[in-house]
Amino acid sequence: MAGIELKPCPFCGSINLELTSTSNGCKVIHCADCGATMIGAYMERAVKKWNRRVYDD
Ligand SMILES: [Zn+2]
Repeated sequence: MAGIELKPCPFCGSINLELTSTSNGCKVIHCADCGATMIGAYMERAVKKWNRRVYDD
């Protein structure tokens, strides 16, 4: 995805990450190793939150 860098899991360092969407269109990043999830209204926002390890913005 151009312009968006998804860093390794901020909790366990895994790169075994899954990108999915919720039924209402929110984007979800999920770590398959430790189960961490981050949800954002847009993928770019979800990625930024993931990379910064924050849950609210
Ligand atoms: Zn993880």
